[in-house]
Amino acid sequence: MSNDTNKPLFNVVAIIGIGLIGSSIARAIKKYGLASKVYGYAKTNSTRDTAKKLGYMDEIYDNAIETVKDADLTILCVPVGANLSVIMRIGEHLKPGSILTDVGSVKGSVMKDIEPHISKEIIFIPGHPIAGTEFSGPESGFAEIFQKKWCILTPSDNCIKVKLNLLISFWESCGMFVDVMSAEHHDLVLAITSHVPHLIAYNIVGTASDLEKVTRSEVTKYAAGGFRDFTRIASSDPVMWRDIFLNNKDAVLEMLGRFVEDLTALQKAIRWSEGDKLEELFVKTREIRKSIILKENETDNLNEENKV
Ligand code: NAP
Repeated sequence: MSNDTNKPLFNVVAIIGIGLIGSSIARAIKKYGLASKVYGYAKTNSTRDTAKKLGYMDEIYDNAIETVKDADLTILCVPVGANLSVIMRIGEHLKPGSILTDVGSVKGSVMKDIEPHISKEIIFIPGHPIAGTEFSGPESGFAEIFQKKWCILTPSDNCIKVKLNLLISFWESCGMFVDVMSAEHHDLVLAITSHVPHLIAYNIVGTASDLEKVTRSEVTKYAAGGFRDFTRIASSDPVMWRDIFLNNKDAVLEMLGRFVEDLTALQKAIRWSEGDKLEELFVKTREIRKSIILKENETDNLNEENKV
């Protein structure tokens, strides 16, 4: 994957926060030739040292202002709750006419935090590449993480079209499909497809570890497929997920309300031995799984055909 012209899309890209996503973006920029220079800022010495050793950035700074002042594209790659303190530091030092974006998993609160601290000369286009793993830190990133995944952008209605298209090209060159929608809609969709499932995983693993009649070693020893999958999800970064729930409260609580109602209906069906109700749901959910796999295969086939 590279951009169509094979000319870098940006002169300088600045990445604030060199963790899983920030380091993956830096690697993708280098691999696909998307910028002439990539500068990075990390808060701690250890992250800066590791990123330097890995060598996928041209400069690594301990000063966020220095990192962004010449950048044509600045990407905030810090936990959602850290965006406010970062933008308060760098907001007035961003280059006029440059694009500012972020990768946060929540969009409404991030927009509220950032918008008051930037001038009208900065083109702010919030974003969320829906790609990740349960790992974090600068060593865990890889350029291919974005391949065939979706990126959602939530620009304001008056966003400059050329700049929006440039950012779309950037993510497409990283291998992503791009959708544009409102921040509210993003937060609602992600609440049910990502945030509530993570909460369920954290909760079920927590419940299993608190059980009195089943020992912890039994939980570990007999962990079958389903529970193992939950433990993988529940090992995701604690700070990142704390911030997601605190910043997407309304949508998560709305979806959780629906989830609890449906769970209560299932509880009742089990209590009253209503096997038909259970089976009806399980047939429906199996179909949903099939349609997801089918969609993924169609996308793979389309990409193969386009290569020819
Ligand atoms: P990560 O691996 O934990 O990296 C976060 C980075 O942010 C770290 O390098 C950390 O710096 C830095 N940081 C933390 N607090 C900071 C502060 N107050 N000021 C400056 N830097 C700070 O996390 P990640 O997975 O890359 O996630 C980053 C963002 O991507 C989050 O907003 C998350 O919602 C979003 N996202 C994550 C995924 C995923 O699956 N992980 C997917 C899509 C989007 P130090 O290392 O120096 O402490």
